[in-house]
Amino acid sequence: MSLRDRLCARIAAQGPISLADYMADCLLHPEFGYYTTGLPIGAAGDFITAPEISQMFGELIGLCLAQAWMDQGSPDRFTLAELGPGRGTLMADLLRATRGVPGFHDAADIFLIEASAPLAAQQRQALADHSVSHKAHVDALPDGPLFVVANEFFDALPIRQFTRAESHWRETQIGAQDGVLTLGLGPELPQPALADRLGDTRAGDVIEYAPFAAPIIDTLGSRIARHGGAGLIIDYGDWHSLGDTFQALQNHQPVDPLAEPGRADLTAHVDFEALAVAAPCPTTRLTPQGVFLERLGITQRAQALAAGLNGTALDRHIAAYRRLTHRDEMGNLFKVIGLFPKDSPPPPGLEI
Ligand code: SAH
Repeated sequence: MSLRDRLCARIAAQGPISLADYMADCLLHPEFGYYTTGLPIGAAGDFITAPEISQMFGELIGLCLAQAWMDQGSPDRFTLAELGPGRGTLMADLLRATRGVPGFHDAADIFLIEASAPLAAQQRQALADHSVSHKAHVDALPDGPLFVVANEFFDALPIRQFTRAESHWRETQIGAQDGVLTLGLGPELPQPALADRLGDTRAGDVIEYAPFAAPIIDTLGSRIARHGGAGLIIDYGDWHSLGDTFQALQNHQPVDPLAEPGRADLTAHVDFEALAVAAPCPTTRLTPQGVFLERLGITQRAQALAAGLNGTALDRHIAAYRRLTHRDEMGNLFKVIGLFPKDSPPPPGLEI
């Protein structure tokens, strides 16, 4: 029985399901989920991410977190965590770049939050020289100083999507007809959680909200507020959700999100405002990825690496630098928000 057959049977039994339920099954179903069964990232997969484009990305994230750790007096035990580490490339680059920071590696307990067994295995391989602990959920992170990065993690969290009617909302739902999944709108209902969005939307407007995002930020932020640390959340998205951003990617191309459940990457843009509102610690200004990386010195790092390259390797390196930073590529679409404790400076590259 395929995941589509299972979804159709479930819908026949209980009626249409929310987009969040659909996404959760498609991405993380233990037997058929996109992340739980496949190896989606990289040229041979469905999408490519910043750490896979250039080693400079993970290196600069590493130096940023190490500087934040030093700015807070170099606590002698801390958790170094990554949410959704993919192939483990970012963490490997981060650890290589911070080898020379006195005491940083000795003080770090490395935790990887990962729901996918095949990806966790890849991460263990990429980080074979380090001792790392895998956990499925942020609640399992130790209760102490926390320095954490999440790149393209929040966009993979299930969303609920609502279309504004007059003073109520209609939720996007997945139905089924003759074995084919269909998108539709549920009945008009009040949504107390969206009361504050009645003021800035009009009938027909679409808004999205990721129910698991706020509890995750609350867990990270409360550790940072209580014990110190820093968080870097990097993703595509914007401030204040408006519009339909639900999308599916397969082989680097947009596809119909209902066509092959479990076979395509399903994502939505991240509403950074919702993350900032949920954080129980100070947050930085939302900053374009290109600006953040420039402030951390990516141009100098790119020049240093370029000095050892020529021919196609040099061309590829220059293209990667441009892709990460240029505002027509990832530089502006991707944004960064930082979490940090009261009475400490924000992480380098970010401001209040
Ligand atoms: N950060 C990586 C990978 C991004 S893809 C990179 O930049 O290359 C999203 C990652 O988050 C994958 O590792 C996926 O398995 C993981 N993931 C998605 N949803 C998750 C969840 N609910 N809990 C834990 N991990 C999740």
